Amino acid sequence: MTEAITDLDKLCIHTITTKPWNIETAISKYSKAGVRGITVWRQWLENRDINTVHRQIVEAGLQTVSICRGGFFPNIDKKARQQAIEDNIRSLEEAAALNAPHVVLVCGADPKQSLETSRQQILDGIFAVLDTARDLGVKLAIEPLHPMYADTRSAVNTMKQANDLCDKIDDPFVGVAVDVYHVWWDPDLKKQVRRCGTKKRIFAFHICDWLSPTKDLLNDRGLMGDGCIPIPHIRGLVESSGFKGFNEVEIFSNHWWQQDQDVFLNSIIETYKRFA
Ligand code: ZN
Repeated sequence: MTEAITDLDKLCIHTITTKPWNIETAISKYSKAGVRGITVWRQWLENRDINTVHRQIVEAGLQTVSICRGGFFPNIDKKARQQAIEDNIRSLEEAAALNAPHVVLVCGADPKQSLETSRQQILDGIFAVLDTARDLGVKLAIEPLHPMYADTRSAVNTMKQANDLCDKIDDPFVGVAVDVYHVWWDPDLKKQVRRCGTKKRIFAFHICDWLSPTKDLLNDRGLMGDGCIPIPHIRGLVESSGFKGFNEVEIFSNHWWQQDQDVFLNSIIETYKRFA
């Protein structure tokens, strides 16, 4: 039985969840609401001095949980692959500046080539940035994405594929980000979460809900409890594998982005306590 959530100690929100808010507003609103963690999407750092942002996060009593996102390694064009590696190195530097323990990898895929080729390029890309990750003390969290995103967003679509990739790399700096939106349907989930647990490789846990029907493949995620994902069950699996980190609310939603974000933040907190 998964333990009920009674406080906000492990609540983290992704800045993209409250997309209309800039970084300063997000920091201030999350902090005032009692949220403890923030996952910073890199777009929120544009035109900002990163050390100032770091200071604001710390002064607000928040912890940077992750940087989103690195990855997008595969490309049919070699030059583009090199640019992706350079961009991933920048993401690691940003994570280090914000004292974030890891960068989340949306690994990427190129529909002009096979998924196998894309997976090989993901492996090559991770190896290419691994020394930098170690030097900076920032880990890399591979997030398997639902197979509907296999064309352009990720050739890593199941927990098994993420585990297999981690086994090939075999480095404590490379692990997995478990996002309920992407893995809830997987009949192999329990087994693969356990497999992660034996290697202590779950670095992050993302929550939201799968709306039925889903109107938009990218931006129609639901609040916890509004869809069909057994979130407490999956959280239980992840926790029993040894994960003790934050529960990160990551909701892309055209619907919610059009609403008053203060009301939305209240709803996040309410539904987090009741349905996560
Ligand atoms: Zn996620």
